Amino acid sequence: MTATTTTSRGATGSVALQGVTKVYGHGDNAVLALDGVSLDVAPGEFVCLVGASGCGKSTLLNLVAGLDRLSGGRIELGDGVNPGLMFQEPALFPWLTVDANVEVPLKLRGLPRPERRAKVAELLRTVHLADFGRKRPHQLSGGMRQRVALARTLALDTPVLLMDEPFGALDAMTRDILHDELERIWSERQLSVLFVTHNVREAARLADRIILLSSRPGRIIWSTRVDVPRPRRIDSPEIASIAAEVTDRLRTEVGRHGQ
Ligand code: ADP
Ligand code: MG
Repeated sequence: MTATTTTSRGATGSVALQGVTKVYGHGDNAVLALDGVSLDVAPGEFVCLVGASGCGKSTLLNLVAGLDRLSGGRIELGDGVNPGLMFQEPALFPWLTVDANVEVPLKLRGLPRPERRAKVAELLRTVHLADFGRKRPHQLSGGMRQRVALARTLALDTPVLLMDEPFGALDAMTRDILHDELERIWSERQLSVLFVTHNVREAARLADRIILLSSRPGRIIWSTRVDVPRPRRIDSPEIASIAAEVTDRLRTEVGRHGQ
């Protein structure tokens, strides 16, 4: 199989993976992290990727983000699309104010100062932090810091968001609120989202489609559409029942590895 880099040919907002393979290391130390993963995310679709720890979820996101090289297969994004990436840790610059953190991608994009100011204000309103621009990250709660990280990612003005367990470190109540916020922003901006989580309820709450990855090597073993109308509640019976089904599949998969 020939390795290719990420190319830009699909529709804006689409993400297409074909036979994506990733091997870390060489020889006896080689780890086959992903094995022939093919997956299409349609423009405006919300896809959740679920799987046991170490099954290659972060590897997959990093490859789509262009942070690492494929060992085989190909990834296609829309013309000129650079996906935004968010992690469990907000990775803000601690010495900068909230305003200045959100302004970083706007500076990199070369926006003039007055436009940057207006854009930062708009983005902070979007994530409901309009009054916190002058604070520094350490003065904010974990949930607020993730809102800042989200605003900073939105400042890239990209149609594709890659999110690697972004709410994994938050308490259930804060996570619940951020699910509502993310869903609103996703829908308003018609974003395509590839969202990694090992929380099956979170996946059922957010996703149009849930994809299950097996462990070592990471392969797609199952997927399901979530046809529950939005807005959804994480504690609704419909979401609970989908989460239970995903949990069963996940248990079978983890059991297969004797973990
Ligand atoms: P997940 O995000 O699903 O927990 P990862 O994508 O982080 O899984 O890792 C998938 C597999 O690849 C694991 O077995 C992990 O140990 C291995 N791996 C990840 N990154 C590296 C790396 N930089 N070098 C070697 N092995 C790695
Ligand atoms: Mg990970």
